[in-house]
Amino acid sequence: MLKRLTDLLDWIYKKKCYFCKSSKEAVKMCSKCYEEMDFLPVKPSRTVKGKKVYCAGIYSKNLQKLIRGLKYHNQRDLAFYLAQFMSEYFEKISDKKDYEVIPVPIYPKREKKRKYNHMNLVGEEFCRITANTLNVDLIKRIKDTKPQYKLKRQERVQNLTNAFKVDKSKYNGKTLLLIDDICTTGSTFEEMINELEKNGINDIICLAATTPFDD
Ligand SMILES: [Zn+2]
Repeated sequence: MLKRLTDLLDWIYKKKCYFCKSSKEAVKMCSKCYEEMDFLPVKPSRTVKGKKVYCAGIYSKNLQKLIRGLKYHNQRDLAFYLAQFMSEYFEKISDKKDYEVIPVPIYPKREKKRKYNHMNLVGEEFCRITANTLNVDLIKRIKDTKPQYKLKRQERVQNLTNAFKVDKSKYNGKTLLLIDDICTTGSTFEEMINELEKNGINDIICLAATTPFDD
């Protein structure tokens, strides 16, 4: 019953802006709501194991609503707008290298439950916009980790230890661009980098759509 109600609401709101619900533009995110998403300065917001980590915006307001909708409320169409936002930011830092884009993988059981990995959707759109290549086979999540936001710094690191596995045969020698939705302490990127480095892969930069901190 609830499912059918959601479908019905989805159908009614399909052509309305998910954010303001009032725009005359028949799109999921109208241009006004899109422009309300602010960019952070174009510089690495932290360094993890010597790799640059860029964060495009702050996890608040429309960016927060977008990520929650995409992640938890089946709003797959929103992937395009997050990819657009990330690519606008990325254009300013990119040195026009050929990147291979790696979305943070989620554990297969979780992906099955959620029916999709939202960062894969963002990665697909991002690659379409920036003409880079998506690689979802190089690194897999092999451990069903707890949600990071519930944990303290030390627990975050432990939670992620040995969470990822690299299949080196899927590496094509390009610079890797790891992408995620939210970067808090950077421990997810850090553990992915650990695993990649163990496999001799060092040419890596990271881009998160958002960070909860303005620093
Ligand atoms: Zn709107």
